[in-house]
Amino acid sequence: MIDSYGRNITYLRISVTDKCNLRCTYCMPEEGVDELKHSDLLTFEEIAEFTKCAVSMGITKVRLTGGEPLVRRGIVDLVRMISDIEGIEDLSMTTNAILLKQYAKPLREAGLQRLNISLDSVDRGNYARITRRDELPAVLEGIDEAIECGFDRIKLNCVVQKDRNEPDALGVAAYAKEKGLDVRFIRTMNLDTGEFWIVDGGTGGDCSICNRIRLSADGHVLPCLFSDIGFAVREYGNREAIEKAIGAKPEKGTLSRSHEFYNVGG
Ligand code: SF4
Repeated sequence: MIDSYGRNITYLRISVTDKCNLRCTYCMPEEGVDELKHSDLLTFEEIAEFTKCAVSMGITKVRLTGGEPLVRRGIVDLVRMISDIEGIEDLSMTTNAILLKQYAKPLREAGLQRLNISLDSVDRGNYARITRRDELPAVLEGIDEAIECGFDRIKLNCVVQKDRNEPDALGVAAYAKEKGLDVRFIRTMNLDTGEFWIVDGGTGGDCSICNRIRLSADGHVLPCLFSDIGFAVREYGNREAIEKAIGAKPEKGTLSRSHEFYNVGG
């Protein structure tokens, strides 16, 4: 699918839940948020049908996100339903890895190819301060299990204040080297003020070559993270919602007052 600026849109990011088992200071308030009602969340069948339609229109790369996708019950079944769709060349998931020790093997067997794992620090105290949860041991066990299961590629996503030279980022980089993993550094973004940067070690945030659209946890097709434009699939239907989103995709992001990282999956 080619948008109005000649960009080929081949990448779909799907937020399967707004729930998360962390409370990262840059993403969610400590007390949590008013979560979506279950009836507001798309069902697995709706997500699979939407993805099938998107693939028939040119999507080849699919990423499952959240909130935290592993807290959505039956997530392995959803991965299997999506991996059965012909035409998907790259199926991956962004997870905080807390539950990965339990899920890595079934996810791999269900057809998941790659993992992006959120890890902002390998210092237990700092990790707990940033995420407001003391879960680093479980995360590291989950990563070891994922390596064991033979995923095609495991990348670490490390959120930084400014750059990769910060102490926590250096610690994550050293850990990644030791484990033979890729790492990329994501400077803290702000949807309300429209502050975002190109991902260090990735292509996210480079509007000139943007190839993505998003499906939010409550079923809106979003042409851009830093915009309030969205089209409800339950209102327009899958194909029309995608066509409208591609047609309305802005040249570059500005800001968003209606989205939160935990319900659009960053
Ligand atoms: S801000 Fe919008 S256009 Fe720019 S890279 Fe992000 S999603 Fe794409």
